Amino acid sequence: MGMLDRIKEKVADTVYPRRCPLCGAVINSNERICSRCSKDIEFIRRPICRICGRPLYSCHCRKGDYVFVRNVSPLVYTKSAKKGIHRMKFNNSPYSCTYFGKLMANVVRSEYLDCGVRFDCVIGVPMFREDFLTRGYNQAVLLAKTVSEDLELPLLSKVLIKNQKTRPQHTLSFIDRRHNIEGVFRVVAPELIRGKTVLLCDDVTTSGNTLNECSLTLLEAGARAVYCVTATVAVMSEMPAIKAAAFGTGW
Ligand SMILES: [Zn+2]
Ligand SMILES: [Zn+2]
Repeated sequence: MGMLDRIKEKVADTVYPRRCPLCGAVINSNERICSRCSKDIEFIRRPICRICGRPLYSCHCRKGDYVFVRNVSPLVYTKSAKKGIHRMKFNNSPYSCTYFGKLMANVVRSEYLDCGVRFDCVIGVPMFREDFLTRGYNQAVLLAKTVSEDLELPLLSKVLIKNQKTRPQHTLSFIDRRHNIEGVFRVVAPELIRGKTVLLCDDVTTSGNTLNECSLTLLEAGARAVYCVTATVAVMSEMPAIKAAAFGTGW
């Protein structure tokens, strides 16, 4: 980089400081995230579960628990990842969305595309219309958009809808989570889904019930297969409520 470029970058950094996509702290142009977050962030490394996408040490799923083929995620839902998801959800932070979306696209490449899986479309987990109108955007669809642009795949943003208000999943016990989300999604244009292999995107996997219910709805509408990608997955130590509810039940 030439002297002039460095000066330009310095000026841009001062006028529009770059921010950590996770916590929002000002960072230098050569940093992707701040030093504090880089100590906490945990990339998911092998061995991973080939169903839920969690590191094997925290997987409790069994064959047949889910109707989607697989979920993959780049990150564990650690404190800093949680902050980044929160920024994206409630502060409409586009750089957080880009950060997570690019990581998701990379993991889709290495775990799916490089293994021969081909997708016809990308879909984000939908929000109930009223919730969408209150917030003004749906972070899962924004992530799906980033992933679809990065992988040059079509985004279907209005085909899957959520037609009921539900209680926030994280406030419920494991059993209640499943009931809370049952039957709340609908495919409004099955002709766009029929025979298609779908890449379903969301921000966090906790119990996997939301991904599973969306997948079931898509499969019932005629989708050939559903694969999932989420920005983060919660592991047991990060989800005490689920741990308490599911301990010993083979969650
Ligand atoms: Zn940070
Ligand atoms: Zn698993």
